[in-house]
Amino acid sequence: MDLQYNISLKPYNTFGIDVAASAFVTIDDEDQLAQLTDLAKGKKIYVLGGGSNILLAHPVDGLVVQNKLKGIALVKEDDAHVWLQVQAGEVWHELVLYAIEHGYGGIENLALIPGTVGATPMQNIGAYGVEARETIDSVMAWNWKKKELVTYTNAQCAFGYRDSIFKNALKDKVFITSVTYKLNKVPRFNTSYGAITEQLEAMGVKELSIQAIADAVIAIRTSKLPNPAVIGNAGSFFKNPTITKKHYEELLQTNEQIPSYPVSDTHIKVPAGWLIEQCGWKGHKEGQTGVHAKQALVLVNYGKATGEEVWQLSQKIVDSVHERFGIELEREVQVW
Ligand code: FAD
Ligand code: NAP
Repeated sequence: MDLQYNISLKPYNTFGIDVAASAFVTIDDEDQLAQLTDLAKGKKIYVLGGGSNILLAHPVDGLVVQNKLKGIALVKEDDAHVWLQVQAGEVWHELVLYAIEHGYGGIENLALIPGTVGATPMQNIGAYGVEARETIDSVMAWNWKKKELVTYTNAQCAFGYRDSIFKNALKDKVFITSVTYKLNKVPRFNTSYGAITEQLEAMGVKELSIQAIADAVIAIRTSKLPNPAVIGNAGSFFKNPTITKKHYEELLQTNEQIPSYPVSDTHIKVPAGWLIEQCGWKGHKEGQTGVHAKQALVLVNYGKATGEEVWQLSQKIVDSVHERFGIELEREVQVW
């Protein structure tokens, strides 16, 4: 293993924040995991995938472990399903393309989400009406303290909306080494999410397929979202908040246009992007950072922003949304 000291993390995070890590190592073999605790010399270990959901608010005083574990294996099959065990360092979108090529359905709506397979259970990635938890069968992870591999069933992962046990009880305690997905041989199409149907129509699709759905999702995402290769960002900075029905009805009295999606009999999801826009932040620029002009949920780095600057802007947004709507926004990105 090639241990490097005091290196810039700028190429390793999609926000493009330039801070140093005191130590950095890349691993491509599970057997290397046992040595990492010693290598960290008592300092914190930070697991790095594609760096597309982190905000580097400060220099990283610890060992950053870049995950390059690769491999896809078909481990089980029946008439209706296949189980693919995928090493955590595989690029998520490449897995989506692999599944489509083999005719395996279930993850096509999640096309073009940046990052690695190992991060997908972390926040139960989701888009266009589908969440990773619907296809994750189990997760294998190395426990730093116990120095052993542990398998977590889907139920043990405690998945929630952009949430899982890996963001909570197991935060910083494990390195996810592989994820086993249960995919459908006979696809069940999910086009219920707004823009997909319109996009399929615009593309002139006559016969629905997982390929067509992925193509539609890719087209929508490419037109709406800022490309991190062009302008630094980490996707949605905040989660969509869930509020009580009573709170929603109170807000409705002074905000007739407030969009809403019921999540249960008692709770309603409100798009954070709408709340932020209403507070006047959309397109706002502040020094080297700002709120994207087309998508208020995305904070951007215009080139030389510091993590601290982005954090300060996010705090102002949290405060103004709280003041106007009484809703506390929660950051989706992981802050290092
Ligand atoms: P990183 O950013 O490298 O890591 C994120 C967190 O997970 C860190 O705390 C890290 O320590 C931890 N982690 C990563 N790998 C492991 C591992 N193997 N073991 C233990 N912990 C680990 N997300 C969505 O849900 N839906 C979207 O539609 C979506 N769209 C996006 C669009 C853009 C343009 C961008 C930039 C981001 C988007 N995201 C979206 C967020 C992001 O892509 C996902 O959260 C993705 O899963 C992060 O993967 P990563 O490998 O880059 O993780
Ligand atoms: P959008 O379609 O403009 O919708 C705005 C918000 O309303 C979304 O966040 C979505 O919540 C919610 N929504 C829309 N239609 C819905 C429906 N039929 N049922 C329930 N909720 C609905 O969103 P967008 O910003 O262009 O993003 C499209 C999808 O990609 C969303 O699913 C979004 O989560 C995902 N995405 C995520 C990230 C990220 O970094 N996490 C970045 C870009 C896009 P949900 O977010 O709960 O779906």
